[in-house]
Amino acid sequence: MEKIPFLNLKDVTALHGADVIEAVMRVIDSGQYVQGRENARFEARFAGFIGTDYAVGCANGLDALTLIFRAYIEMGVMKPGDEVIVPANTFIATVLAVSENGLVPVLVDSRADTLEIDDSRIEEAVTERTRAVVTVHLYGRNAYTDRIGDICRRHNLKLIEDSAQSHGCRTGDGRVTGSVGDAAAFSFYPVKNLGALGDGGAVTTNDSELAGTIRAIANYGGLRKYESRYLGRNSRLDEIQAAVLDARLGHLTDDNARRQQIAAYYYSRLENIAPGLVLPTRLPDSCNVYHVFPVLVLNGKRDALREHLEKEGVGSLIHYPIPPHEQECYRGKGILKLPEDGLPVTEMIARSELSLPISPTVTSDEASQVVNAVIDYIRKY
Ligand SMILES: *Cc1c(COP(=O)(O)O)cnc(C)c1O
Repeated sequence: MEKIPFLNLKDVTALHGADVIEAVMRVIDSGQYVQGRENARFEARFAGFIGTDYAVGCANGLDALTLIFRAYIEMGVMKPGDEVIVPANTFIATVLAVSENGLVPVLVDSRADTLEIDDSRIEEAVTERTRAVVTVHLYGRNAYTDRIGDICRRHNLKLIEDSAQSHGCRTGDGRVTGSVGDAAAFSFYPVKNLGALGDGGAVTTNDSELAGTIRAIANYGGLRKYESRYLGRNSRLDEIQAAVLDARLGHLTDDNARRQQIAAYYYSRLENIAPGLVLPTRLPDSCNVYHVFPVLVLNGKRDALREHLEKEGVGSLIHYPIPPHEQECYRGKGILKLPEDGLPVTEMIARSELSLPISPTVTSDEASQVVNAVIDYIRKY
């Protein structure tokens, strides 16, 4: 039997290989490797794809998030010590961006059926110091709800989207995620749905002041050469990465459609087959670009299923084995604010979540092999 890796990046690159090579060669020949034509073109096209007035390229997704908060601080919208509501079930970067700016991450528990932030628990976390809510469209699933939008409007909070896993995903009312909040952060880390051949990131927004402030902070603090208004840094998107991303952006909708096909097959074969295997509620395809395909394996059987799959040649990953509030960097330091009744659903997800292979290069035969290996295990227990 063929081995099925969780993700084969080499195959993913080869999928649109000719376009990628053409893009890289174009930049090599241009003699301009940072802050040139490729960035301008990709930013314009990406903003158009998301549906915002601005896209600002930067070095990676964590920087994109960090720069949003930093810019709001420079603009006087937030100040260190203010609170930002974030989902407890997320990749650590979401939380790091908040704490790095001296803002207080206020964690809100998840829903077991969506694995996303429980929007019925957000309002009780709002205090006089709350300035923003971060929605993370985790696993490629839209996490925006009208209730979240309503809470942000009523309490005058900025809505920031962590769109690092959701390129091309839409909300229930058809808007592209990344255009719904006041600002959104994207990552182009190679494994993401839209990936570069290295690190990359972008902020999308309709706020011209925010876009300009971010662009300046990310360029040593100023837009004019040798003039720094802010205590800036260097966080830019390389020309080669911008060119590669521009080439791959044209294929993103098709690549996401392939992920959706595989997901439909997984749902058709794995949903409701055993009480111990739970699939998250299925969203309409437009609302899920399946960055990963998470399942919950209950009763402490997750690691055993993972080992079984490994033996059958099927790669899988856990997103994420240690939730942010249990990470050593935050433990016992009083940096995070947690609900009084803890984060039981998030902790259940960390114990139970397993991600099955899903990428545009997974073949139908491979998807069927994945499913058979899962069912084979379920039968045994
Ligand atoms: C990948 C990711 C980030 C960070 O992006 P990098 O480009 O790796 O810095 C942030 N948030 C989420 C949800 C991510 O998946």
